[in-house]
Parts: sequence; structure tokens; C-alpha cells
Amino acid sequence: MFVIDSQTECYRNNKANEFSASMSLIPVLPLFLKLNRQHFHNSLLEKGVPRVSVRWSDGRMRTTAGIYRRKTNFLGVKASEIILSRPVLENLPQKALNSTLCHEMIHAWIDLVLKVEEAHGPNFHQRMAEINSAQTDFQVTVRHSFPISNRIPKWVATCPSCKRSFSYRRIVKGAACRSCCNNYFGGRWDQKCVLEFQPFSRTKK
Ligand SMILES: [Zn+2]
Ligand SMILES: [Zn+2]
Repeated sequence: MFVIDSQTECYRNNKANEFSASMSLIPVLPLFLKLNRQHFHNSLLEKGVPRVSVRWSDGRMRTTAGIYRRKTNFLGVKASEIILSRPVLENLPQKALNSTLCHEMIHAWIDLVLKVEEAHGPNFHQRMAEINSAQTDFQVTVRHSFPISNRIPKWVATCPSCKRSFSYRRIVKGAACRSCCNNYFGGRWDQKCVLEFQPFSRTKK
């Protein structure tokens, strides 16, 4: 059994190396450690070891940006992991990654630190609000607000004001961020909210 296990691991490692050679995925552990320090009082570390493992998915996780899950192996050992979707997140700005990782870390914190059964309940909302008010780099949301689609969009448009991203099949000249126009300009179109278009990279499979 052990042999099979290590072969599987080896195969995975080879694949991971292949990926990192052909494209640049942000290493997630340093980001996890930073967010844990800034927003979770280091509570997701135990004696210097993360209480939850974090990794990128392979090419498959296309309909969700991230998941948190508990698992038990055949020896009955429990472990938790956060998986971040490579297909969904790799072409989006870093704030989408921060937001997703933070979202899943709140689930881990509720499960491992608070030890309560909760999905997006009061503890989740309270911690999310604290994180969102503590910084302006990214916003944690209950539902991920960036594009998740089986049809690959050609363009990603980012609002220069709130930094949210939207997917577009084509460039829409002068399209502005509706929520920022509403929030800051009384619902009128304003140059400061005009979306910036970047091609959605589609070189990888
Ligand atoms: Zn969630
Ligand atoms: Zn905006």
C-alpha cells in the first residue's frame, strides 16, 4: 500500500514541476502565512505548521474558485485542506486569489479554531467584515464575484476604483463599474469607474 502511495505522490510531483516550468502560478504557502498573520492572529498555525494544507487544483476544478474540506485517511488520521482552482484563478488579478484564499481560510478557522459547524453563518460574516474593514487590497465575499464559466471569456475587465473583475466576450468601450458609479457618483457614469480590459489568457490547457 505504501508503495502505491509513494508512486502516486511521485507522479503528482512530476506534474507539478511541469506546470511550474510552463507557467507561473503564485506559490500559495507564503500568501497563506501572510493572511494568517494579518487576519487570523496566526491561529491557523500550530507549532509553526499550517493546520490546513493549501494547494492549487489541477486543470479540473472549473466551476468553483476554492474549496475547504476535511478528510480522513485510511488510518483514521484527519486532515484539512484548501484547494484553489487553477482554471478559475490563474488568469485573474491577484486580488481574486487573496479573496478566495481568505474566504476558505475563514471556513478553516471556523472548523479548526472555533470548532463549530457553520457554513456562511454569523461567525463567517463577522470575520469577513473584520477582514474587509482592515484593508483595502481585496474584499472577501460570500459568493465569489468574479467570472466562473465553462465558456472561456476573451477579456477580463477590472474596475480601477473597487478593483473588482468582470468577464467579457468582447471589449465594451467606456463600460463603467455600475456599483462604483452608484456608490460614488450618484449613479452617473464617471471616467474614474471605466473598466480596464485585459486579454484573458488562454494559452494553457
Ligand atoms: Zn464558502
Ligand atoms: Zn467599481
